[in-house]
Amino acid sequence: MGQNGNLMRSLLLISALIIGLLGCNPNRRVPAVVELAKAPVFNSDSAYSYIEQQVGFGYRVPGMSGHQQCGDFILAKLDAYGFTVSEQRDTVIGYDSKEFPLRNIIGKWNEASTDRILLCAHWDSRPFADQDADRKEEPIDGANDNASGVAVLLEIARAISSQSPTIGVDMVFFDLEDQGRPVFDTEADPNDHGYCLGSKYWSEHFSGIKPKFGILLDMVGAKGAQFTLEHFSWEYANSELLQVWDLGNQLGYSDRFIYNRTGPVFDDHMHINQLIGIPCIDIIQRDVQNQTLFWSDWHTHADELDAIDKQTLESVGQTVTQVIYNLPNAEPSSK
Ligand SMILES: [Zn+2]
Repeated sequence: MGQNGNLMRSLLLISALIIGLLGCNPNRRVPAVVELAKAPVFNSDSAYSYIEQQVGFGYRVPGMSGHQQCGDFILAKLDAYGFTVSEQRDTVIGYDSKEFPLRNIIGKWNEASTDRILLCAHWDSRPFADQDADRKEEPIDGANDNASGVAVLLEIARAISSQSPTIGVDMVFFDLEDQGRPVFDTEADPNDHGYCLGSKYWSEHFSGIKPKFGILLDMVGAKGAQFTLEHFSWEYANSELLQVWDLGNQLGYSDRFIYNRTGPVFDDHMHINQLIGIPCIDIIQRDVQNQTLFWSDWHTHADELDAIDKQTLESVGQTVTQVIYNLPNAEPSSK
């Protein structure tokens, strides 16, 4: 996600203000307990293998062969799992008027259902290690950011294919989230940060049945990851956010789904909330001790396969899977 420029600095100031108002004590919320619908088991070994495969393709940076191969891989997996697949391709403008080829990948389950959930993640990887001390201008593996989010969605797609939910599921893999201006670049226009281009394009061109709510996954695989109540998720999708956190806690992942509120993140969920009005939350790793920071290895070369932990993948994957089957009116089908 973008944490670049004056826009982000002002967001961080807002964030500091909010945190100041909230205090840093963990919220003592007692999670609501609900009846758990029968949901498939999320297989973290399978999810891990999807991360390995993505990293194995090389950098998922537009114009590089790893990007092409990974896009083809996602499309083929969705197709194999019985999703109706489509792509959005175009050329869009990033920071400094740079042109980027865009490839958003979309998979739909139960296409005709009017009762739908949106699950999304960006599939491109960062072309710079601009938060690293060394080799700042080289691309990163992006095992956590965001092969992890893609892998969790693909494993959920596999689970769905084995036990169909009654609701519809829209899976969207956004391109061009992480091609924003590097921090070592001089900023001509602070608002010209160039992040989240794929989700902006998808949101601007949205048509069809609107999902009831959305879940964005970004950096959901690192060892010891914790997920907090991100500011914009709280503002735009409060009840959905708490519903997901409560389910995560009920499933036994209370060490992951933390009720601390943390500052705003300009991530793909912003355009979805603002341009379409689908309440969309962001499950993203934050630093609970320093509430404006992300994962410590964010946008560095340490974002590699070694950073990934299957238990983290399971906590997010099983929780989101349960959400799909536990939505109101969502009875597990006998299929
Ligand atoms: Zn990133």
